[in-house]
Amino acid sequence: MAVIAAARDGLLERIEASARRAGRDPRAVRLVAVTKTVSAERVRAAVAAGLDVVGENRVQEAAAKQPDVQGATWHLIGPLQSNKARRAVEVFDVVESVDSLALAGRLARAATEIRPGRPLPILLQVNVDDDPAKAGFEPPDLRRDLAALLALDGLRIDGLMTIGRLARDPEAARSTFAALCRLAVELRDANPDLGAELSMGMSDDFAVAVEEGATIVRVGRALFGPRS
Ligand SMILES: *Cc1c(COP(=O)(O)O)cnc(C)c1O
Repeated sequence: MAVIAAARDGLLERIEASARRAGRDPRAVRLVAVTKTVSAERVRAAVAAGLDVVGENRVQEAAAKQPDVQGATWHLIGPLQSNKARRAVEVFDVVESVDSLALAGRLARAATEIRPGRPLPILLQVNVDDDPAKAGFEPPDLRRDLAALLALDGLRIDGLMTIGRLARDPEAARSTFAALCRLAVELRDANPDLGAELSMGMSDDFAVAVEEGATIVRVGRALFGPRS
């Protein structure tokens, strides 16, 4: 508990410093504690320490921890197969990793049945730098599909999500984050119903992401230590 609280404080200080460097309000940045591979017991301690928004990559792993972890908001941040969309709607409060119109359609149908009158908040994952190793909409596809996405009942599209270039130097991710921010401005100009959240930045590059406009950072190792 004391260890996770200290890690939380240190991280929040670094987020605040980055926000101030960029002339942004630090309160405009929210932290998702990424708990993949972290035991339910440690997740419970993190939630007790105020890290009550948690991110998981897999539907099954999150579902297995939930009986032991009360009071958290659960974000799905990993790739989701269409056939697990229904289960994802049961397990998660927010799906950050929506990467196709087909998947969004599945989630929308499930959300209308499972949580009527309460649209499921989602983010659209974008592969802004055309990286073959990454999931997400290519920007031209997102431009084409956005109106159809926004028309789906059962979903509320809160904004965009991306993963920075994985490299030793966090500066390598800056152009990706800046590109996501520019794309969001362009899309919101034509589609004011698209939300303004930008989920970008992980343990190695969250400071750069905050400087480039992140409103959500997803941090695992910098809070919980290396994954085994
Ligand atoms: C694992 C993961 C994170 C957190 O990564 P860390 O390097 O542990 O901070 C963030 N976003 C996604 C999509 C992830 O899969």
